[in-house]
Formats: sequence, structure tokens, C-alpha cells
Amino acid sequence: MNKGMLIVVSGPSGVGKGTVLSKVFESDNNLAYSVSCTTRKPREGETDGVHYRFLTEKEFLENIAQNRMLEYTVYCDNYYGTDAQYVEKLRESGTDVVLEIETNGALNIISKCPDAVTVFIAPPSLEHLYLRLSGRATESRDVIEKRFIKAKEELARIDNYEYLVINDSVEKAAEDILAVLRAERIKKYNKNNFRGVLL
Ligand code: 5GP
Repeated sequence: MNKGMLIVVSGPSGVGKGTVLSKVFESDNNLAYSVSCTTRKPREGETDGVHYRFLTEKEFLENIAQNRMLEYTVYCDNYYGTDAQYVEKLRESGTDVVLEIETNGALNIISKCPDAVTVFIAPPSLEHLYLRLSGRATESRDVIEKRFIKAKEELARIDNYEYLVINDSVEKAAEDILAVLRAERIKKYNKNNFRGVLL
């Protein structure tokens, strides 16, 4: 069995990563979403263990100390990170795993796991992104401004990613990611599987 791929998806807050990825997950049944750990408070409608594992700062720091994080970062005053064992188990079972993470974490993954597939989702324009961020009723003005500044920093890192997907239409952005997955699977798995046929 082939080991599952690691797919890193980044994009600024408010770009619509969640909506695009839900569409991708609807159409691809060999894909798992890596549920991250965070010290951020749950937003309305978020469930522990589904959207995130919501931890206290003490718990998060213990995880770091015990080397349990594949990567982690501080983003807008909260810790976010990926549980290494959780991701490894999924990959060992042949499932491709999507990490929806910000750019610092992505850069760490790129240096630790050079075979990771990296995708950046960008908005059609900065203005578009600001309107989306400020339209979110869940965040205070202060948080919106912080996230917008962060978004501009993240957009400056696009060149570290292999693929850029523009979210001017959710359907098209999802199709682009599905196309990336298909091409990467052909690239990574076909030769391996074919060698098996020749034996
Ligand atoms: P939010 O608070 O909007 O859910 O997430 C804020 C940012 O943290 C987003 O860009 C999201 O992709 C990122 N993020 C979520 N989980 C992780 C993680 O495990 N590691 C890193 N580095 N970033 C994460």
C-alpha cells in the first residue's frame, strides 16, 4: 500500500479555505482533514474534536515539550499546531491528509517533509478579502485588523508554494485542488503500482 500524501493548504484568513475544502472533501473519498490543536476559544458552531482540539495554553505547551507537534505557531496571540502521531497514523493507512495551516507552519512542513504537496489559496483582490473579513460577525474590529495585516504578510509568501489557486469561484477553486490531487497521485503512485504489476 502507498503511504498517504501530505497536502498543505494555506491562504489568508477570510479567503474561504473552509468552503473550498468542504467541496473538495465532498468529491474525494481518500482524503482526511487534519484536526489541529489550538488555544483559541471556539467560535459559535465549532465543536471540539471536529473543527479543532481546543486546548489550554498549559496543555499546548506540554504537547510541544513532549515533541508531539509536527509543526506549530503562534497566530494572532493563539497557539495552533498539528499532532504528529495523528497525521502519521492516517498516512500509514494510505489516506492522503490535508493540513489547513498558516504560512509559518507550512514553511516548517516544507523543510521537514520535502515531499509534501503545497497549495496556496488567494483572494481575487485585497479589497475583496477585506470586505469578507469585515463581514464576519464573529470577530471584533481589533481582531479583523490584525488578521488583515497578517493576510498581507501571508500573501507575500506565495512563492514558497507549488500551486496557487485563486478563489474567485468556490466551484472552480475546488476543481483546481481536485486536479492537483489527481496529478500528484498519478505522479507519486502510478510508477510504484506499475512496478508491482511487472513482478
Ligand atoms: P482560525 O482561527 O481562523 O481558525 O485559524 C487561523 C489560522 O491558523 C488559519 O490560517 C489556519 O489555517 C491556521 N491554522 C489552523 N490550524 C493550524 C495548525 O495546526 N498549524 C498552523 N501552523 N496553522 C494553523
